[in-house]
Amino acid sequence: MEVVHRLRQAGHEALWAGGCVRDLLRGSEPTDYDVATSALPLQVQELFGRRRTHAVGISFGVIIVRAPKRGIQSVEVATFRTDSSYSDGRHPDSVSFSTAEEDAQRRDFTINGMFYDPFDDRVIDYVGGQTDLQLKLVRAIGDARDRFREDKLRMLRAIRFAARFAFQIESSTRNAIGECAGEVAVVSGERIASEIQASLQTSHAAWAVAEWADLGLLPVILPELAERWEERAAEASRLLNAMPTATWQTKLGGLLFATWGAQEQPVQLMKSRLKLSNSDANAIAFTVTSQPVLEQAHRLPWSQVQPRVIHPSFAEALALLDARCRLGLDPHCGDWLRHQLANIPELDPPPLVVGQDLQNLGLKPGPAFRVLLDRVRTLQLDDRLRNREQALEWLNTEIEGMDA
Ligand code: ATP
Ligand code: MG
Repeated sequence: MEVVHRLRQAGHEALWAGGCVRDLLRGSEPTDYDVATSALPLQVQELFGRRRTHAVGISFGVIIVRAPKRGIQSVEVATFRTDSSYSDGRHPDSVSFSTAEEDAQRRDFTINGMFYDPFDDRVIDYVGGQTDLQLKLVRAIGDARDRFREDKLRMLRAIRFAARFAFQIESSTRNAIGECAGEVAVVSGERIASEIQASLQTSHAAWAVAEWADLGLLPVILPELAERWEERAAEASRLLNAMPTATWQTKLGGLLFATWGAQEQPVQLMKSRLKLSNSDANAIAFTVTSQPVLEQAHRLPWSQVQPRVIHPSFAEALALLDARCRLGLDPHCGDWLRHQLANIPELDPPPLVVGQDLQNLGLKPGPAFRVLLDRVRTLQLDDRLRNREQALEWLNTEIEGMDA
């Protein structure tokens, strides 16, 4: 409100724009507010001062205006613009500053193309966004094929917004995605990854994956899945539907598990293509590769299960195991683990002995150290060595045996 007010006082047009208008009309609280204005970027900077502004995308006319107080979100202020040709399939080659009506035309979908005047409580809708919100449709503004040819990322955005709001994709928009799907290959791995992530985070993740597959996007964005999709699709979507609130890493792990079982290699391929961070890729790999141990946990020595349980991604692996249980895997598995977790006083007890103890027993530091300490740890976790005295005694016997 303050940003719009100051721009108007200085004689410019200013409106709330895009996602925040859509969210308000849907009755949900926007996560952030964007302002569109007739003021030029330099005028915006001058009006709010250099200290409050940050020229993130000066060439596109985007200035971030920081709130006057801490704890309030910044506002993105973008000058009304028209985008020129797109030669890289992602970004306009140049932009020219224009009017609100033209600015609406360069936006992606009708539901994202509206403005709102917060002082008059008035929606300014040049693109039919209000009707499409009511019809629950994601519809490209203008000719869908042209819009997807300009910026290929929009195809993934269409599916993401539809999955997020449980909307359908309007049929000519959807057909255009089908025609242009292969071109999504020009989009960077990171951008594809963030769309995949955001789509999986919605409660309609299974629908989004099915759309990627139906429209021909899957072979480009997740070839690991596409390769075996026909035979695995039913199982994979049942799995996603069985874990609606799981993290995106768990869901991606679930998809890979439904396709390739507990293998790690597909995760590594996906990691390098999508430029996933080590921590995301490790979480996914752990979720996938731990399934065989976790589902057999009640039959295995605790020393084999415990390292999985104390792993930072255990919650994710357990979420996948639970989903698998809900779909008919022995329901005992998840329950047994949970019971175990609730009843073990210390999941990761301190070791009974350390390297210094081995030296005190006369052993010289070397490879045998690690082996012995690991064996003591295993016996400790399996409750066969219960205290330090027992551990030292066991070590003594072992070392004597080695000497002999
Ligand atoms: P979210 O709540 O996910 O942030 P949003 O609608 O605010 O949704 P943003 O990606 O933050 O989405 O973009 C803000 C606005 O900018 C969109 O509502 C849309 O009007 C416009 N926009 C964003 N990306 C594109 C694009 N690739 N092509 C055309 N317009 C876009
Ligand atoms: Mg936004």
